[in-house]
Amino acid sequence: MSSTLTIALSKGRIFEETLPLLAAAGIVPEENPEQSRKLIIATNLPHIRLIIVRAGDVPTYVRYGAADFGIAGKDVLIEHGGEGLYQPLDLNIARCRMMVAVRQGFDYQQATRAGQRLRVATKYPAIAAEHFAAKGVHVDIIKLYGSMELAPLVGLSDAIVDLVSTGNTLKANHLQAVEHIVDISSRLVVNKAALKTKYALIEPIIQAFSRAISE
Ligand code: AMP
Repeated sequence: MSSTLTIALSKGRIFEETLPLLAAAGIVPEENPEQSRKLIIATNLPHIRLIIVRAGDVPTYVRYGAADFGIAGKDVLIEHGGEGLYQPLDLNIARCRMMVAVRQGFDYQQATRAGQRLRVATKYPAIAAEHFAAKGVHVDIIKLYGSMELAPLVGLSDAIVDLVSTGNTLKANHLQAVEHIVDISSRLVVNKAALKTKYALIEPIIQAFSRAISE
């Protein structure tokens, strides 16, 4: 139906930081996904609903048109590719840095200089592989789905590639950041067909988001 809009969001930081942007566009969710187990959440506007999906799945729902637009981290967009998606706006929310980190005291310079293979644990194999290829460092990438910080502590890897915000998680686990790969923030991603067929509905929301982030 071209008269309704479905917006894909992930729980946690992206949802929390998107709430003020939605409010600026006059959209108020009827439930908080942190408290509700519902995956489809109605809003105060009968023609607009939210769907709650894993952060890494947002581009997929939007690309196939199951959601008209969504909000996804640049980490997810680089890793999974932003193919088929229109990305009109950097929302500047959920900001953090993609970093390489190692155990405190680990000689990273030596390990990357010596021509040996570095074992790197990460949820972001494409970003990690590209980073180390550009440096000419040989790596074995070990794919994990979470708690990357544990890997160097128990000998699974020499290094991790992960998102760092305050740095508290690294510090609590006796790790240190040794390289900055890329700054990350969340972006609006819009289904290309929906942008055409539902332009009158979507454009005012993009404008409202844009005004809210420049305030
Ligand atoms: P911090 O302790 O504030 O540096 O946060 C680090 C932890 O939070 C790591 O486990 C990261 O994977 C995760 N993290 C930090 N920033 C983000 C973000 N913008 N999106 C998703 N996860 C994040």
